[in-house]
Amino acid sequence: MEYEAIICFETHVELRTRSKLFCSCPVQYDAEPNRNVCPVCTGQPGALPVLNRKALEFTIMAGLATGCRINKRARFARKNYFYPDLPKGYQISQYEMPVCENGYIIITGDDGEPYPVGIKRIHLEEDAGKLVHSSDSFSEAEFSMVDYNRSSVPLLEIVTDHERNPMRSVNEARQYLEKLRQILIYTGISDCIIEKGQFRCDVNISLRPKGSREFGNRAEIKNMASFRFIMDALQFEIRRQKRLLETGKRPGQETRLFDEQKRITIPMRSKEDAPDYRYFPDPDLVEVEISDEMIESIREQIPELPDQKLKKMTETFGIPMAEAVIITKDPKVSEFFEKSALKCKDIPRLSKWFINELFRFIKESSLTIDKIPVTPENFASLVNMISQGELTDTIARSVLEKMFSTGSPPEEIVDKEGLRPIEDEKVLEEIVDDVLSSHSDIVKQIKEGDRKPLNFLVGQVMRRTRGKANARVVKEMIEKRVS
Ligand SMILES: [Zn+2]
Repeated sequence: MEYEAIICFETHVELRTRSKLFCSCPVQYDAEPNRNVCPVCTGQPGALPVLNRKALEFTIMAGLATGCRINKRARFARKNYFYPDLPKGYQISQYEMPVCENGYIIITGDDGEPYPVGIKRIHLEEDAGKLVHSSDSFSEAEFSMVDYNRSSVPLLEIVTDHERNPMRSVNEARQYLEKLRQILIYTGISDCIIEKGQFRCDVNISLRPKGSREFGNRAEIKNMASFRFIMDALQFEIRRQKRLLETGKRPGQETRLFDEQKRITIPMRSKEDAPDYRYFPDPDLVEVEISDEMIESIREQIPELPDQKLKKMTETFGIPMAEAVIITKDPKVSEFFEKSALKCKDIPRLSKWFINELFRFIKESSLTIDKIPVTPENFASLVNMISQGELTDTIARSVLEKMFSTGSPPEEIVDKEGLRPIEDEKVLEEIVDDVLSSHSDIVKQIKEGDRKPLNFLVGQVMRRTRGKANARVVKEMIEKRVS
């Protein structure tokens, strides 16, 4: 029997607001422990929460960017549970009446067709504090400390729909996560740095016989530290559940943990042990009213999204899809590219040099593209010089290297270092003649009508000039002499 997987994500995303969700404490990743705290975010008696307007606007923006319906009224609820990182004994979250519902994110399905993965809801909630143990290994720790800096930092929870177009394979799951993260970064809602805990995923997965409408029991896998781990966990779960089903057993409805070393999932708790959060509306917060004017003004602030950008790269700039995908992965990268493209006369070459050469230098320098000394304008000038034959590829690479270390424009480097290609026929004459006389057999071949070895001769001259000759001029000189 063939089985299909049903995969759903619950993703928590830390918003890029300056202050926390219900107080004015700053949101800061690497502050000294318990620096950014106040009576509200540490749950002192009598302290009252006040909603951060920017966090609400970001939530609405996330909803609009993923085709959600924005509810006119939204409500906050208390999710009750006890854990030392939760000072109030409850988390302020949303239960009924979330801000956004019924959206989608378009990916390419396994059949090659566009597939809109259903988003059930996006809601706003507060983060918990962070436990720091006295030892790296929890079981060996003598004591634990709590850092409340993260307590009440605004989080989006984005939940996909298990009935409306869930993901059906590891490939679809990976695409969904990448696309979601890309949209959130493009809109500026979050930096989504996984290592900083700004983008955290829980996933649940069940299997059912292909064609069946019923759902199997779900395994939820929590707290995975990278996309790689999520994909490994899903792959493992598909194998594990399939094996159970094939031997006539039913996978249990349970929460499982991913073991990073062994790359397997292990049981954590069954459904019977699942906590009952006793949600109820938070009496300290009034219902939020969201007006049409507010929605429209946020809609106007949404920048070009990844799909629109991709379309622009392939249709307006005529860049091949594979290259456009790389360029549009990150908004800072596509911004740099677009600025260069405005000044460049040879876009296909710009795209190739961007991906093959500039990226290599960026990788080696471990800087982000907005921090490199090379400006988009200078990069465009370099590519223009190459396409006008003013620079050979070899020399252009060393010029780019110097642009990277000095930040100077290419023209300045070329003049200062005497790197202008040798175009003077008088200078090249001796070398060209020498190459021709030492390859008389090849010259004969060309004279008999076989033009293929012409490039070999050009290459010989380039070698002797260490790439400094203008290849176009050399070719013309050789052609003149052999014809
Ligand atoms: Zn506070």
